[in-house]
Amino acid sequence: MVPTGPVPEGLPDLRTMTLADAEAFAVAQGWQRFRGEQVWRWVHDKGARNFEEMTNLSQSTRDEFAAKATIGCLTVAEVQTSKDGTRKIRMTTRDGASIESVLIPMGEHVTQCISSQVGCAVDCQFCATAKMGLKRNLDAGEIVDQVYLGKRILAEAEPAARISNIVYMGMGEPLHNYDNLITSLKILTNDKGAKLAHRRITVSTSGLVPKLAKLGAETEVRPNLAVSLNAPNDAVRDMIMPINRKWNIGKLLAALKAYPLEQRRRITFEYVLLAGVNDSLADAAQLAKLLRGFKCKVNLIPYNPHPEAEYARPSAAQIDAFQNECKRLGMSTYLRIPKGDDIDAACGQLANRSNGSPVVPLRIRKGPPPPPPVE
Ligand code: SF4
Repeated sequence: MVPTGPVPEGLPDLRTMTLADAEAFAVAQGWQRFRGEQVWRWVHDKGARNFEEMTNLSQSTRDEFAAKATIGCLTVAEVQTSKDGTRKIRMTTRDGASIESVLIPMGEHVTQCISSQVGCAVDCQFCATAKMGLKRNLDAGEIVDQVYLGKRILAEAEPAARISNIVYMGMGEPLHNYDNLITSLKILTNDKGAKLAHRRITVSTSGLVPKLAKLGAETEVRPNLAVSLNAPNDAVRDMIMPINRKWNIGKLLAALKAYPLEQRRRITFEYVLLAGVNDSLADAAQLAKLLRGFKCKVNLIPYNPHPEAEYARPSAAQIDAFQNECKRLGMSTYLRIPKGDDIDAACGQLANRSNGSPVVPLRIRKGPPPPPPVE
């Protein structure tokens, strides 16, 4: 069992509650149900960070809530801005852990990449977060508060800009923190809270096969699904993603074939291009064969270098050739232009680094990679 963050005061945390939980909480205290909704909306719609900000509640109601509940808050430790406008927010949890989230400008809109765990257990060999190891799961409040803080920071820096999409692609494997993932999705998509459309949210997974079936069976939340594939065969995937030794490509694709997709939705396959590892035209041909018949698109992500891995980004010509071959073979393929790589905010680079140096020591692992998470 992966631990989740402590609540220092030992009180229930309103930020981790769905609306139904908050109403039930109010009733359990002997208060009227609507009080639960009132306070919940302050936290998840208006962005209140303490009870004193809830100005339409009487002082005695605020005091009653403050005696029985808390509102968990992340604190912003640093905001770094890239020359391309990407912002990386480093946040501290109540128990002193560091996590990161990234605001990525996409034309007129901003996509926010959020974290689901402190570190990660999956150990993808090209990923800087993997070098943190897994410290703990984030609770649902810590997941959604990244969005609320992102909104505040963006409103101050660029009042006209809006966060239009959320991607669970930051630190951690979201499906390894399944219950908190689902609670956070219920909170973010509630019409009385952050009001994010389901189709504007993407959950990315390295392929925790048993949890894919569970996610597909959820009725209240329907995020988009992205799968970090990164290899056209098991030999390469075994090497760069140890999780493949437990759930190989065959098992992963079988689970995805059974995944219920809504109309007009496609699975996104992410493919980090590593020079000399998975970027040949033969790799493109194998990939096309593998994904034939899938309702999918492929996002090609040129590797973003960092000191913890020895891979290299393919040349621009090789990236072009790979993409052209994918297209020629009928794959819907998009090239993700690296953003924020000058502040270590690009895909695969998140490791609490400030001006190039880690603020939290990274793990120097000796010996073979540990086994992948078993859940
Ligand atoms: S790529 Fe994602 S799943 Fe893999 S180690 Fe990094 S954070 Fe974890």
